[in-house]
Amino acid sequence: MDLYEHQARGLFEEHGILVPRAEVTDSPKKAREIARRLGGRVVVKAQVKTGGRGKAGGVRLAADPAAAELTARQMLGMDIKGHTVGKVMLAQPVDIEAEFYVSYVLDRAAGRFLAIASAEGGMEIEEVAASRPEAVARIHIDPAEGVTSAKAGEIAEAGGLPPQTVDVLVRLWQVLVREDAVLVEVNPLVRTRQGQILALDGKVTLDDNARFRQTRWGAQEKEHDDALEAAAAAKGIDYVKLDGEVGIIGNGAGLVMSTLDVVAGCGARPANFLDIGGGASARTMADGLSVILSDPAVKSVFVNVFGGITACDTVAEGIVRALDTVQLTKPLVVRLDGNNAARGRAVLDEHAHPMVQQATTMDGAARRAAQLATKA
Ligand code: GDP
Ligand code: MN
Repeated sequence: MDLYEHQARGLFEEHGILVPRAEVTDSPKKAREIARRLGGRVVVKAQVKTGGRGKAGGVRLAADPAAAELTARQMLGMDIKGHTVGKVMLAQPVDIEAEFYVSYVLDRAAGRFLAIASAEGGMEIEEVAASRPEAVARIHIDPAEGVTSAKAGEIAEAGGLPPQTVDVLVRLWQVLVREDAVLVEVNPLVRTRQGQILALDGKVTLDDNARFRQTRWGAQEKEHDDALEAAAAAKGIDYVKLDGEVGIIGNGAGLVMSTLDVVAGCGARPANFLDIGGGASARTMADGLSVILSDPAVKSVFVNVFGGITACDTVAEGIVRALDTVQLTKPLVVRLDGNNAARGRAVLDEHAHPMVQQATTMDGAARRAAQLATKA
């Protein structure tokens, strides 16, 4: 589970990492009050679970409380890479002298954690790594040893971070271990003109496998990514919102994952991940379709089903019945293959819904759905 910036900074704070004073709200009026409390001038930051908010207009300086209200009003409801801004954080501005990058991430292949550190913070680390790989230090961490002061010193030196950051590096490791995270990232970690080391941004991914022992997670989860994910979660559907325009429904996580790849290979971008699982009842199909169709970014929908235990004709009947309850506002491309595929196709042919087309192969269906999405 990914956390919002304001949730991540809450964890940093609990572990003794300095962060700027800040408060979160979903109301422009409250934004004005908060700005007043924080001294007038504030940084307004969109709370969305995606990076690069700065470039997308999701991080802006407001000179006074009135400007903070206006900025908050503009930012709330804004779309950043397919994520709707539901809350903004207002933070006391910081006089930045230097920006650093630091993260710990689980390296599954190595069976270790990886520390990544760079003196070129603030920018996207992937870009730094691509253009100047020598500026990004990567050091493995033995999970049994963890990040001691000595190890933190080694990481700081390799990344070109000042010795003052060692304490933060140790504390950040404690965040990872105690909170059961598989990723903690601070970009930028800054040195202020006053010489303080502050975490100005934070990304934390919690390890879902640790759910059983992390009773506090319930509260974090209540703040869902967006209304769609919340609606899907309420219906018990495995749905993840993505940034594209081709809605996707499939049966089985593996098939859905490869469907995303095939759609991307056709030059379109998937709008979501949605696995209806093995059952694929009319009910699940209707719930899945209604979640996808209520995403305004979706231009076409690709239903990709490989009949195994669940036969294609059952799925086709599910689709037909779903269309009784869901108004189809966008073209649907259906590919049925596997168990009882011919019967399934016949069911859809017979129904002859004007917005439904069939394709016999996964590639063909993906191409069609991609075309429909880019034409729309
Ligand atoms: P991101 O673009 O989603 O990674 O959002 P960040 O929180 O990292 O903000 C982007 C950039 O805005 C940072 O790298 C800083 O350069 C700048 N920024 C954010 N907060 C402040 C602040 O309080 N003062 C100053 N001067 N710059 C800030
Ligand atoms: Mn950042």
